[in-house]
Parts: sequence; structure tokens; C-alpha cells
Amino acid sequence: MKKRNLPLPELELRAILRAADDLIGEGGRSMLAKVLKGSKDKKLIELGLDRNPSYSFYKEMTLEQIMEKVDYMIRTDFLEIEHSGKLPMIVFTPRGWAVERERRAEEFLREWDSWIENHIVPVSMEYLKERNRGLIFLFLFKVLCSGNKKYVPFLTLWERVAFKKVQAEIRKVIDALNRRDEMDPSEWDSLTKEYAESLILRLDQPIILACQRCDHPFVFDEENPEHYTGEGLRFPTLCMRCLEKDLTKPKNRQGKLP
Ligand SMILES: [Zn+2]
Repeated sequence: MKKRNLPLPELELRAILRAADDLIGEGGRSMLAKVLKGSKDKKLIELGLDRNPSYSFYKEMTLEQIMEKVDYMIRTDFLEIEHSGKLPMIVFTPRGWAVERERRAEEFLREWDSWIENHIVPVSMEYLKERNRGLIFLFLFKVLCSGNKKYVPFLTLWERVAFKKVQAEIRKVIDALNRRDEMDPSEWDSLTKEYAESLILRLDQPIILACQRCDHPFVFDEENPEHYTGEGLRFPTLCMRCLEKDLTKPKNRQGKLP
């Protein structure tokens, strides 16, 4: 268990993870810092990292200051260094990937929104094919939760090129969206909960969080759809024991009333 450290503010946390996403297995801490700085480094440009959304996020800072931020991300268990190859490379920890895949899924959804708004029909959905399955299924879950039929044409296009397992899930989401109007809120609610079980994939390793009240470590259950809000993934801050105490407190007080 790592020493308890609070994460960086949300905006910075997400920016650093997004920058890291394009260089996982390709670069180390200093390359990551250069992307965030907005450096014109030759290798960085060759890899197209200047097109990363977080390029020059920390342009006002020195490389040293940015490196401290990166190291803080490693200390708080969002990124780690892998020494398997010749050079040390940046990789996501399960916790870091949980946040990043949520953000990428959201990016995919917003991209579809902008295509629909601008009447753009993509030539092919191949770009979704070789993606990480946890990410793709989470994206599908978000499409489902929108309850919006406008995505059905894109889903149909995607279904044609997807691998079998993904194809079956796309089909389920299409059917659900088409039936949305006939369902009452409670029916829809239970359907999305049921789909969450197949679409939110557990990560390879469990995510361990530390309770912010009692410091007790606890396993974060990423399959609970309630953690995926409009603003992004929300990690719980309290362990079950502290949560339960909070829940029972008001009841006890009420019980004492005459
Ligand atoms: Zn606790």
C-alpha cells in the first residue's frame, strides 16, 4: 500500500493522463514532461505528440517543475515506470487507466456528437477496431446511457466492422435505444444497470484506494455505474465502514427523539 497522498486537482490530473496516453510504452518521464511543456523536440514531433490535446498544457512552467508534477502522479499511484525494455517507460497504473479510459470514452462520444451536428458521416468505423476493449465497452455504455436514438446510424456502421464480441454488444445497445420510447423510467433504469454489468469491464488488477477519513485501504468497485457521472469517473473517498457510519448516524439521532 502506497503512502496516502491526495491526487492533483482534477484538471491537471486528467491533462497529465491524457498526455501520457499517447506515449505509453514509447517514452519516459522526460518525454511526458516535454509534451506538457509544448517542446519542439525532434522525436516528439516525429511521433506526432504535438497533436496531443495536452500539448503545452504547462507551457508557463519549467521542465523541472513539470517533472515534479509527473513524479507526484507516480507517487499518488496514477502512473508508474516500467523497466522491461532498454529504457524506462511510463505506463498507467490500474487507477490511472480507470480515469483515462473514462475520459477517452467521453472523447469518442463528443466526437460523434460533433459529427452528427455537422452532418458528417464517417467513411468507416475502423478506428474503433483495435482499441482497448475496456475503453470501447465503456464508450458503448455511455452511448446507451444517453438514451438517444441519434447514435443508431453510427452504431450500425460500427457493427459492420467490429469483432464478434463487440458486435454483439453493439447490437444490444442498438435494440435498447430503439425500444427506449416504449420503456418507462424504471424499466430503462434496470436495463442500463443490467448492461453495465457486461459493459463496464473490471481492470486486470483491482484498484486500491485509501479512505480519506480512517486511512483504511479498500478496493474500488469500478463496475458500479454510479461512479460514471457526466463530469467523469468519481472515485469514492470513504471506505464502506465510514460510509455506513454516516448513513446510520442521522437515524440514531432521530431514534432518540421523544
Ligand atoms: Zn474509512
